[in-house]
Amino acid sequence: MSDRVRCNCPQCAIRGLMGPAILVTLGILFLLDQLRGGYFSFGNTFPVILIVIGLISLASALASTEGHVSDSVPPAPAAAPPPPQNPYAGQGQAR
Ligand SMILES: [Zn+2]
Repeated sequence: MSDRVRCNCPQCAIRGLMGPAILVTLGILFLLDQLRGGYFSFGNTFPVILIVIGLISLASALASTEGHVSDSVPPAPAAAPPPPQNPYAGQGQAR
């Protein structure tokens, strides 16, 4: 999908499941709404999405970050940005 660095550590792998898991959950809930309705109407079952999001976030937070590849330093784009200059002169410099 994109050319950003793919990390295979457990934490990033679990976090990567968030989108698909939400889509699958939404699909199941709408299916239940269509098939059963009533008690299983989407108005009653939507909190399941929050539970799924919470469980995946929890699992991701508890997972190991061993082998994590940080993407805070992406590969150099076509035009390298100019060297960093402090745009907030006078801040954070103890004299
Ligand atoms: Zn990672």
